[in-house]
Amino acid sequence: MLDADFFRRWMTATAASVSREAERLTALDSPIGDADHGSNLQRGFAAVTATLEKEAPDTPGAVLTLAGRQLISTVGGASGPLYGTLLRRTGKALGDAGEVSEDQFAEALRAGVDAVMTLGGATPGDKTMIDALVPAVDALGDGFTAARAAAEEGALATTPLQARKGRASYLGERSIGHQDPGATSSSLLIAGLVEAAG
Ligand code: ADP
Ligand code: MG
Ligand code: MG
Repeated sequence: MLDADFFRRWMTATAASVSREAERLTALDSPIGDADHGSNLQRGFAAVTATLEKEAPDTPGAVLTLAGRQLISTVGGASGPLYGTLLRRTGKALGDAGEVSEDQFAEALRAGVDAVMTLGGATPGDKTMIDALVPAVDALGDGFTAARAAAEEGALATTPLQARKGRASYLGERSIGHQDPGATSSSLLIAGLVEAAG
């Protein structure tokens, strides 16, 4: 079973890896974006961990809804509302249980990813964070390590795609040949689950 502490560790692990990889995320956002993805998420997840320490929510759902709210209010641009919606909707789907099973979490994360697709209008193959998140959710039934591998593979597979959503889509065919920054950060988020479990 996964308790509030597990979800706090998930956010802390993600904040650490996003911070470690911030320069790389921003570099990926340079040729096909506006070179701010790393700094956007670094600021957002730092705010998330600070708020979680201060408010200490005691259910999985409350941890994720608070984290999502914090991302929406501190990260500008496209990724703030999208990541914020992902966590908020996932948290909402978990309800107010003190502990949730891995299957319940997988189902809730599916609802979160669906909400991101509704908000942003992206579907798999559009060269966005969705290309890492959908395969991760599909693999989650086989465990966190399988989800991490699927997300990483999904992020790598964005390179030959032409972007159809977000800033990168303004480049048309020139977006081809670059890995999507949001899919890359999504694979860090999913990798955080392995760390939180370990
Ligand atoms: P901005 O483009 O506003 O500067 P970021 O650089 O922080 O925002 O985030 C860019 C990432 O957001 C992209 O790499 C892509 O993965 C994701 N993204 C952008 N638009 C969408 C969308 N409509 N649906 C899903 N993801 C999107
Ligand atoms: Mg950007
Ligand atoms: Mg921007």
